Amino acid sequence: MKVINTVDELTAALAIAKENGCTIGLVPTMGALHSGHESLIKKCVQENGISVVSVFVNPTQFNNIDDLNSYPRDLEKDKQLLLANNVDLVFAPSVEEMYPKPDQRVFSYTPLDTVMEGVYRPGHFNGVCQVVSKLFNYVRPDKAYFGEKDFQQLAIIRRMASELFPTLEIVGCPIMRENGGLALSSRNQLLTPEQRSIALNISRILSESAKLIDRYSLEEVALFVTDSISNTEGLEIEYFEIVDGHNLQRVNNWSDSSYIVGCITVYCGKVRLIDNITYKK
Ligand code: AMP
Repeated sequence: MKVINTVDELTAALAIAKENGCTIGLVPTMGALHSGHESLIKKCVQENGISVVSVFVNPTQFNNIDDLNSYPRDLEKDKQLLLANNVDLVFAPSVEEMYPKPDQRVFSYTPLDTVMEGVYRPGHFNGVCQVVSKLFNYVRPDKAYFGEKDFQQLAIIRRMASELFPTLEIVGCPIMRENGGLALSSRNQLLTPEQRSIALNISRILSESAKLIDRYSLEEVALFVTDSISNTEGLEIEYFEIVDGHNLQRVNNWSDSSYIVGCITVYCGKVRLIDNITYKK
């Protein structure tokens, strides 16, 4: 496994792989790797001749400086997980390397980026598209792997790729969860043990809500989720929206779409957690 910090070294290493006709897989991450990331990495290693994992906490996607500063970082531990998974190249650039000058590009994927996270984290998806498009340009992968945990991000990346990188295949990977159901996230490290047990209620309530869809209206199920979360001490809901899984627009009835997903963001103390559940596909 080669750990690379500069774009020049990365392109040189990949040029050899490309000459040899290897397919290239990319998993973009912000590090503090866990089994959720690992599931994407395993798939990437399995499906490609050369696997590249980027580890970069991208400042342009943080709309909150405290969130950026407290984001967990542990490259040494990450390297162990990557080595154990037979990753070929780890790209861990500095901020200066990724942004030698401010990135002025504006990405707009209306209506995908104007709802949910787009409302509560202004500029977030623009930053995500800035860094991911740079990575796609540097690596030129055949396949890139993203988690369904960041459901809206995946939809936006699919759209960006279809417009700017039409030959690239975006592979969506299912949400990995801890034993109690909590969606794995690097931010879970920031939870106290007590908060962690409170946070288990999020996935529990979502999966309970999925059992109600045959008997209750969409509005009633939405109310069940928002009420249950609001009644849980230690959790504060930011939004819960039941949307069409393709265009991310709200639906009003279960019959409105063949693909329906509930997306939620909840604060547990200062820690912002996101999750989602597929009601219908
Ligand atoms: P991050 O490091 O949080 O930017 O995540 C890097 C990639 O891993 C993104 O595509 C995430 O959607 C994905 N990911 C993070 N957590 C999980 C999880 N629990 N299950 C599946 N994929 C995940």
